Amino acid sequence: MRTFSQYISDLLKGISSLLKGLGVTWKEFWTKKVTRQYPENRDTLVISERFRAELVMPHDENNEHACTACGICQMNCPNGTIRVVSKMIETEDGKKKKVLDKYIYDLGMCTFCNLCVISCPSHAIEFSNKFENATFTRDKLVHQLNHEGSKLREKKKVVKEDKE
Ligand code: SF4
Ligand code: SF4
Repeated sequence: MRTFSQYISDLLKGISSLLKGLGVTWKEFWTKKVTRQYPENRDTLVISERFRAELVMPHDENNEHACTACGICQMNCPNGTIRVVSKMIETEDGKKKKVLDKYIYDLGMCTFCNLCVISCPSHAIEFSNKFENATFTRDKLVHQLNHEGSKLREKKKVVKEDKE
């Protein structure tokens, strides 16, 4: 059975421990806050340029991209996040040519490893840092990256643009 002195000793230990905890709370109360209030801070929020939020395919002002539909990114993706659908067209000089039909990217599957971007020989894809991608259903995370009516940028034009 506990004695009265043991009871007092435990009580004092408890009070001392409580005061220590309150001391930490009091100190942190006056420390400069680093936590940001999101989404209230949307206008001032700074996201690092390097942050990988979503794969995108940049298009220029002529609605042209650099994807040749070679499928290398799809082969290098470790978990089947990318599906490159190509089609055959006939060029003006009567030759058959493979072009991109649909570039399908499943954001819900992506591990943001960047292997697709690194392996693309045409620099046709990159990561955007736009991170607000939440949806209520997974199927809304499946995106077609090539724009409607877009086409492959002419090679000559790429060289010319690179020189500028
Ligand atoms: S970042 Fe990785 S997982 Fe995501 S699409 Fe590219 S290769 Fe696939
Ligand atoms: S994004 Fe690059 S690697 Fe992927 S199909 Fe297009 S050109 Fe090939």
